[in-house]
Amino acid sequence: MTFSSIVTRFAPSPTGYLHLGHAYSALFAEAAAGKAGGRFLLRIEDIDPVRCRPEFETAILDDLAWLGLNWEGPVRRQSEHLADYRQALDRLQGMGLLYPCFCSRKDIAGSGQAPHGPDGPLYPGACRGLGAGERADRIGSGQPFALRLDMAAAVRLAGPLAWRDLDAGEQTARPELFGDVVLARKDVPTSYHLAVTVDDHLQGVTLVTRGRDLFEATHVHRLLQALLGLDVPQWQHHPLLMGPSGQRLAKRDRAESLRALRGRGLGLEEVRSLALSQPGG
Ligand code: GLU
Repeated sequence: MTFSSIVTRFAPSPTGYLHLGHAYSALFAEAAAGKAGGRFLLRIEDIDPVRCRPEFETAILDDLAWLGLNWEGPVRRQSEHLADYRQALDRLQGMGLLYPCFCSRKDIAGSGQAPHGPDGPLYPGACRGLGAGERADRIGSGQPFALRLDMAAAVRLAGPLAWRDLDAGEQTARPELFGDVVLARKDVPTSYHLAVTVDDHLQGVTLVTRGRDLFEATHVHRLLQALLGLDVPQWQHHPLLMGPSGQRLAKRDRAESLRALRGRGLGLEEVRSLALSQPGG
């Protein structure tokens, strides 16, 4: 019998400064590993070259160290591992599950009538049926394209799947909610769903802890694990911290950053207890 201990991770994207919600999420992940005598890892999810900035990464590492978090080993930076995602894409391509999609966001939003999934409008499928000749011509002429998963074919191949959230219990995987998800973007040779799934496997993560806003995304991750033969962790989706008017804290709403709280003179214990005393904490 092999002994397997808990491995968790915190995986921020350096697209802004961390706020209390991130502090809560990072402390949650570290505590989940710590109470089981396990390991806590840090990953920087920096695949988006436009939105991610090195100064945000520096600030994140600084804030996490200030919070007293102790992650093990080197930080995994996604932008340094594009070959790993390429390998996964090649495998899916070899299984006939990917197709190039030349559509713009505008094409997809269309009349605004398109049904929505958890990530936005569902892809209506215009490029799914393009012939091999047309695909080759468009690619040859330099048209940018994304790679999408043929969801119906993928679900058929994988068969019924389940996953387990420590709080919500056993879940039936419903990746079809997302339609034909993008696995490699036009501007980036991977996507959130692909990179996170491959990395959790490669880093040996056994318990994925993250906010409830990503609960549904797990349906897609479970499917990718089945298709790619990756290890299946458990999950724990924690509640999200709410702002003063009941909205969830988000970088884009300029939720007060940990740096700003520090700048106002709040000390470590105050910030930690603010993060942990919130409704989710
Ligand atoms: N990078 C994602 C974020 O900052 C989190 C990904 C995850 O935990 O799966 O929202």
